[in-house]
Parts: sequence; C-alpha cells; structure tokens
Amino acid sequence: MTIYNFAAGPSVLPKEVLKKAQVELLDIAGSGMSVMELTHRGKEFSAIIAHAEETLRELMAIPENYKVLFLQGGASTQFSMVPLNLGLGKKAYYAISGSFGKKAFDEAVKLSKSLDIEPISLGTTEKTHFDRLVTFDSSVKNSDAAYVHITLNNTIEGTTIYELPDTGNVPLVGDMSSDILAVDYDVSKFGLIYAGAQKNIGPAGLTVVIIREDLLPTEPVLSSMLDYRILAKNDSLYNTPPTFAIYMAGLVFDWVKAQGGVNAMEKRNREKASLLYDYLDSTDFYQSPVRYKNERSICNVVFRTENVELDAEFCKEAEAQGFKNIKGHRSVGGMRASIYNAFPREGIVELIDFMKKFEREHQ
Ligand code: PMP
Repeated sequence: MTIYNFAAGPSVLPKEVLKKAQVELLDIAGSGMSVMELTHRGKEFSAIIAHAEETLRELMAIPENYKVLFLQGGASTQFSMVPLNLGLGKKAYYAISGSFGKKAFDEAVKLSKSLDIEPISLGTTEKTHFDRLVTFDSSVKNSDAAYVHITLNNTIEGTTIYELPDTGNVPLVGDMSSDILAVDYDVSKFGLIYAGAQKNIGPAGLTVVIIREDLLPTEPVLSSMLDYRILAKNDSLYNTPPTFAIYMAGLVFDWVKAQGGVNAMEKRNREKASLLYDYLDSTDFYQSPVRYKNERSICNVVFRTENVELDAEFCKEAEAQGFKNIKGHRSVGGMRASIYNAFPREGIVELIDFMKKFEREHQ
C-alpha cells in the first residue's frame, strides 16, 4: 500500500532528498564523517551552510540588504523575538486571522507587561472561527508603528494572503511558516520574514529568519540568543546551530531549484489544490469552512462532513487506506490535507477517489 502523508508539519519531504541524505549519511563530502558529526566551525560545515544560504537567496530572490539567519526555537520563538528586537518603545500592529497570529499577538502582549512594547490588534476573525482574513485600512500605512505582523498562511484554518497589504514605510513582518517556497512572495515587500522549517524546508529544529539589515537592533536586547544583531554578526554561528537540519534544508533548496524554482512550485501547488477544491465544490457531502474562494490555502486544504462522528469515521478509514495524518488540528476538528511542495499530485487524485467512495457509502 502506498502511504501518503498529509501531516501539517513535520511533513512529507521529497524522496530524492531523503535518498541523497541516506547515501551521504556515513560520509559527507569525502570527510569520512556524517554531517551530524561535523564541527559547525569546520570547512565542511561552512560550505554546507553557505550553500544553503546561497540557494535560498537565489530561490526567493532575497535582496543583498537582507540577512538570512538559521536559528532554533521554532516559529514560536519568533513571536517573542520580533517584538523584542523591533518593537521596543513603539506600537506594533497585528492582523489576527488565525490561531498562530493570535499566539504571536498574545506573546507580544505578555512582553508588554514588563517591557515598553505596545501591541495593537488590527482586527481578528476569531468570532467566525478564523474562516476569513482580516482586512485593514490604510491608516496603518506610514504610521510610526514598528511593524505590521501578518501570518501568510493559516495552517490550521486553511486561508492564505496572496496579495500583500501595502503598509507604506511601516515594515511588514510575515510568519511564512507554512507557505515559504510554496507561494511566490516578493521578499523586498517585507521587513522581516520567519518560518519554522518543518513544512516546506526540511526537518523540525530549524527556523529561517530573513531580516532587512536596517531593522537589526542597535541596542542589546534581553538575551544574546534572542538578539538578531548578535545572531547576524555571527552568521548564525553564535552558538551551535541545528547542523543536520541546515544540511537537509540545503538539499531541499536544491530540489526546489531543480523543480524550476518557487514560481513553478506555486503553479504546481495551485493545480494540485484545485483538484481537491473543485471536488469539494462539486458535492454537498463535504464542506470547506473557508469563507472566500480567493483566500483558500493551496498548502492546507481544510474540509469536514456534516458531523463529528462521520469525520472520525472518515479519518479512521482514510488512515487504514494509507492516507496518513489527515485529521484536522485538534482545535478545529474535521480534516486537513496538507499538500506542501513535496506532496505528490497522485496522492491527491487517490484521496479524491477515496472521498468519492466514502461519500457513496455514507450518504
Ligand atoms: N506559525 C505557523 C503559521 C505555523 O503553522 C506554526 C506551526 N505549525 C507555527 C507558527 C509554530 O511553529 P513552531 O512549532 O515551529 O514553533
């Protein structure tokens, strides 16, 4: 039986990448050592991290005046690092269109209790279970705020920002955890981008931060490990970085490049997702909770049946048929097909066949 992994993260990786890592596992670049055994300050690892950065820069067309950082602590640590580094003494705006955006805002609010930070909500769609994106007016533009924080892809709720808001001089900060390299964004429109690696980049344990250099703090922040300036000055080697994850990320970047780059990935992802959405639109048996079609995520397709018992039965039968991890996030229930870059098209075609059969048997 073919296994299709619909997990939201950690999630499916390209087979070619896993095979290459397997071949190189015991001896990387003729060193006689595994990549996991290399010192992070040696020439072999220096070449690995430089290659990963270079390839990512090329893939995302990252301008020269941006630093690329390979950090740890997950995207969740960025919820604190962003206000700590960018927000001191200023207002910061948050558009809260999903659970992770809410977490980012809540973390800033927590810090504001003891630090001079002023997080302000630009609106939230929580009342309607984050079924749509927050839209905000142009008063934000050119205000004296430190930044506007948005979540590009709401992993749990299945919505995505495709058109970036115009925030004028106010830096746009984007949590791109679940659609980095899957949707083709213009990096120059952002002040800072962050992403946990475990969806479209590689194994968990690595967080990528892309920051415009003029936003690096000029004063030391609370702690060195949370200080972008120190991390940037040391080229992500202030302490021991997640070496294996960085190596794997480099292989995934090579793979994305071989697929034609981010724009080609987005086209493929759109086509893959539309197979599933077209089917969802053609039946009343399953529903998508996403309010507007133009906000539908091409990375996380969320759907459900008319009741929770049927959803549970769907997940059980799907699991038995090799469609793994299709259960929705524990906070929302239902189902979620996470179909990132490495998820194969044929897995979606087979899932739709299974969904049709399930519909026939349970109508
Ligand atoms: N933001 C988004 C959009 C996410 O999807 C996730 C994880 N699923 C996070 C933040 C939190 O990431 P981490 O688990 O790496 O802290």
